[in-house]
Amino acid sequence: MPYDYDDQNIFAKILRGEIPNDMVMETEHTIAFNDIGPKAPIHVLVLPKGSYVNHDHFHAEATDAEILDFARVTARIIADKGLAPGSGGDGYRVIGNAGIDGLQEVPHYHLHILGGRNLGAMVPSA
Ligand code: 5GP
Repeated sequence: MPYDYDDQNIFAKILRGEIPNDMVMETEHTIAFNDIGPKAPIHVLVLPKGSYVNHDHFHAEATDAEILDFARVTARIIADKGLAPGSGGDGYRVIGNAGIDGLQEVPHYHLHILGGRNLGAMVPSA
């Protein structure tokens, strides 16, 4: 099976309400909360509620409604935090880590929204 979801991962526990979170937004299919170890003044994690491992899994198997909701929530948080360049914000970065080379720590799909300072080079040189 190409996508083997571990339901004991920390975000699965947060989604089941077993571990608290600092909620930013919740909709039918999506939840967003502040990262426990922020790497920038704004560091929000956006997760689908469904059991998807990573970006490619989510976009291959999620419903259109889940994907649309996830995309809209991500955009709404960017707007709410005042980060959108088109609305006078100073910009942001959206990151989705996957697998070994992506150094994904938690195997439940999530995007990082980072902002509030200059974020430097996209990828450090090897
Ligand atoms: P990844 O490397 O999987 O893309 O990133 C996982 C992120 O989850 C890290 O930035 C880490 O700080 C965050 N994280 C890990 N455990 C928890 C937790 O229990 N609560 C919250 N809010 N964030 C967590």
